[in-house]
Amino acid sequence: MDKATVLGTASAFPTKLRNHPSIYLNLGGAKVLFDCGEGTQRQIRSAGLSPSVDFIFVTHWHGDHSLGVGGIIQSLNMMKNEGPLTVMGPSGTNASVKHILDTYKFYKRLPIKIRSIDAKKELLVKEINGHNIYAINVKHAVKCLGYKVKENDVRNIRKDLLEKLGVKPGPQLKFLKAGKDIVVGGKKLKASQFTYIKKGRSLVYLTDLVYEKNIYKFAKDADVLIIESTFSSNMQNQAKEFMHLTVKDALTIAKQSCAGRVYLTHLSQRYENSGEIRKEAADLAKSMGLKAEVAVPDDLSEIII
Ligand SMILES: [Zn+2]
Ligand SMILES: [Zn+2]
Repeated sequence: MDKATVLGTASAFPTKLRNHPSIYLNLGGAKVLFDCGEGTQRQIRSAGLSPSVDFIFVTHWHGDHSLGVGGIIQSLNMMKNEGPLTVMGPSGTNASVKHILDTYKFYKRLPIKIRSIDAKKELLVKEINGHNIYAINVKHAVKCLGYKVKENDVRNIRKDLLEKLGVKPGPQLKFLKAGKDIVVGGKKLKASQFTYIKKGRSLVYLTDLVYEKNIYKFAKDADVLIIESTFSSNMQNQAKEFMHLTVKDALTIAKQSCAGRVYLTHLSQRYENSGEIRKEAADLAKSMGLKAEVAVPDDLSEIII
């Protein structure tokens, strides 16, 4: 997991500069979307990414997060993609995807796997090429999930030390990489000495939700937290009414979770460009003593993980 591409940063209404939400990740060759709003396919093309999507993790079935699912199914069918396409989302996802399949006249060659998830507590929902995907129910106007991608820790060989000893690469090194001590040319090589653990990175995606005091635990120590902040902090009433976060709510969760970097997204159409939210976030982060780096990404920007 090296980068996430932010395909859309709007909320309910797409604007000239902002598309509906979607985040694109390549997990060891698997193309993964978190949310798939209207226009996601064009954003994938604009970003120069592969359109052969393998997984769509839908947070919830409000249109801004899911109107693009039918479009992806249509294109994968026309591309004769062998699939399967896996679509996961909150309770009711099976019915929602079946409605899409019944409504549109697809070629229906593409195998599709569908899974509805109810995650009252953090739940491991999928493993993809050395990455674990977790989900948790969050509180919104409809059933909604937050997601986390956690890359597995990897044990790497200290090649520099082996070279010094004159040990050449060979098949026995795979045991060392697996954490086992080996003997080469009469020399015992301890895994503890000749390998190191590279900690896996983690990314958390939280949208749409109201503030709850325990939700930060799901994002604990995330390297990257992508979180909605639909409204400015002076619009707390609207945020409550529509069950969204303000900038202050989002930064509070960021601070509580000790996330490394925070990306605010899902902005209301009233913020024509992100300048106002960016300034507010920077001022608030300072006054809150937030250590994390805070950014408001534009559409098609890449987040290095
Ligand atoms: Zn939304
Ligand atoms: Zn929503």
